Amino acid sequence: MLNLVLFGPPGAGKGTQSNLLINKYNLVHLSTGDILRSEIAVGTALGLEAKTLMDRGDLVPDEVVICMISSKLDNNADANGFVFDGFPRTTAQAEALDALLVDKGTSISAMLSLKVEDKELIKRLLERGKDSGRADDQNERIISNRINEYNNKTAPLKAYYHAQNKLSEIEGVGSITEIAKKLNTVIDTL
Ligand code: ADP
Repeated sequence: MLNLVLFGPPGAGKGTQSNLLINKYNLVHLSTGDILRSEIAVGTALGLEAKTLMDRGDLVPDEVVICMISSKLDNNADANGFVFDGFPRTTAQAEALDALLVDKGTSISAMLSLKVEDKELIKRLLERGKDSGRADDQNERIISNRINEYNNKTAPLKAYYHAQNKLSEIEGVGSITEIAKKLNTVIDTL
């Protein structure tokens, strides 16, 4: 199986690149942000609980997202592999993911980490906020909180995957095709 963690701060382009990767390598896209937003849209209890946190730019509890990913893995038992987008975001999530994959007799193949500087992220997110309708994309204070959450809780995961020899850092600035090419080059050497 090919199991990729597509990593990077909010606005790094994880969603865009995930869509290209799933088509090229025939993988299943698992975006915890997308799954949470669909829970909100349907109006489930879980969605209601998550919305308050997401609108503030805070992370939702580990147990919630781990449980979501676990059931998606079970529901896609025949997949060629997965692109994890926006997950894991904490060490507890990374450890839980490793354990879930061991149960399935597989593991993470690589973490592809997109590097983009804060000023560019804020610009991209405010631009996306104009038509995404996402409350968390429309306010610079909330965006800053998301970037802080990333720096404090999520960025340390680079060391977690580096220790497993799985980290590749990729420059996330340039055209979508250029960045996709760089990702493909890394994946094709796995
Ligand atoms: P972005 O990467 O642009 O921040 P996402 O759609 O990945 O967008 O995430 C939006 C929000 O959903 C996050 O700010 C957080 O509140 C919540 N979220 C998504 N994934 C996770 C996760 N793995 N752990 C905790 N919270 C999450």
